[in-house]
Amino acid sequence: MTTTMKAARWHAANDIRVEETPIPAPKDNQVKIAVKFTGICGSDLAEYTHGPQLIPVDKPYPLNGHQGTTTLGHEFSGVVEAVGKNVTTVKKGDRVVVEPIFKNPESPFIATGEYNLSEPLGFVGLTANGAFAKFVVVEDYMVHKMPDTMTFEQGAIVEPAAVAAYAIQRSGMKMGDTVLVTGAGPIGLLTVQVALATGASQIFVTDLSESRLKMAEEIGATHTFDARDKDIPQKIKEMTGYGVDVFIDAAGAQASFDTGVDSLRNGGTAVLVALFGKDVVHDALNQTLRELTIIGTAAYRNIFPETIALISSGRLPVENLITSVISLDEVVEKGFDALVNDPSEVKILVDVNR
Ligand SMILES: [Zn+2]
Repeated sequence: MTTTMKAARWHAANDIRVEETPIPAPKDNQVKIAVKFTGICGSDLAEYTHGPQLIPVDKPYPLNGHQGTTTLGHEFSGVVEAVGKNVTTVKKGDRVVVEPIFKNPESPFIATGEYNLSEPLGFVGLTANGAFAKFVVVEDYMVHKMPDTMTFEQGAIVEPAAVAAYAIQRSGMKMGDTVLVTGAGPIGLLTVQVALATGASQIFVTDLSESRLKMAEEIGATHTFDARDKDIPQKIKEMTGYGVDVFIDAAGAQASFDTGVDSLRNGGTAVLVALFGKDVVHDALNQTLRELTIIGTAAYRNIFPETIALISSGRLPVENLITSVISLDEVVEKGFDALVNDPSEVKILVDVNR
C-alpha cells in the first residue's frame, strides 16, 4: 500500500517544493478528501513571495499543533475518501467543497455565530496541511456538499467567491446601487460578478493592468479605469450624479483607498477586503462630515451555502475567471511564478490528478 503522496510544500519564502509526504489519516472528527482541483490564492502568493504570514513557523498553531513546513492550498473541491468515527454529516463518495477557516470552540465568537472572528485565525493550507496534494484531511465542520450540477472546477472557486459574496452582503448593497471595485484580481473580479448577480446598476473597476481591466469588462463591469488616473472620483461623480453607493477595496493601498473614499457618495459605504500591506492615512473628519461607513471583512461567515447555490444556478459564472489549469508538478513555474510575473493570469487551478 502506498503511504506517501506528492504535495506542494512551503519551506520558506521563495522555496516551495513538490515532494513526497505522508498520506494523512482522519482523526475522529475529521474528513479525508481526495482532492480534484485546487486554486492558487493571493494569500498563497504572499506566503511564497514574502512569507511566512499566517504559516506558524516560530510556534505551533494552538488549535492543532501544526508548525513549519506546510502543504499549501485552501481553495479546493474533491470527493470524500474516508471519515473519522464521529463524523455523520458526510460519507465516502460525497462530492464536497471546504470552508477552510478554523473555529476555536472556546472562543466567545462561536456562540454568537461570528466564527470567523474566533482567535487565533487559521486556515487549512496555512495553519494545517492543505490541498496541493492528492489527499487532505479537514475538520468535519468545514465540509459542504456540492450539488450534482456544480463542476469540480467551479467547486474550487467557491472559497474566493465566498469572500466576494460576504463583502457585498456586508456592504448592504441594494438593487440598482452603483459600485466601485478597486483591484481586478480574482477577488475584485468575483466581487464584480456578485454585485451584478445582486442587481448593481453600474459597476466601476480600477486596476493597473490593462488585461485585467479587459477581463473586468468581459464579465460585466460597466466602466473601467487605469488606477493611475487622478480624475476617477470626478468622472464617477459625473456618471452617477453624486458618487457610488458602495466602494469595495480589493487592492489595499493608500491610492485605492483614497480613490474609493473620494468616489463615494455622501452616506456611502466602503468595505475593506484586501489585506493591506501598509498603514493608510485616513481623514476621519471627512468620514464624519460625509457620514461614510467603513467596514472591515475577515474572510467570510455563514455564506458558503448561498455562494454554492448561486454558482450552481449559473448566475455566478466563476469558471470564466479560470485562465490556466496546470498539474501539481507545474505549480511553482506555471502557477506561483506565472501569477507573480503575468497580470493576464487571474485564477490558476491545479488539477492534482493530472
Ligand atoms: Zn484564498
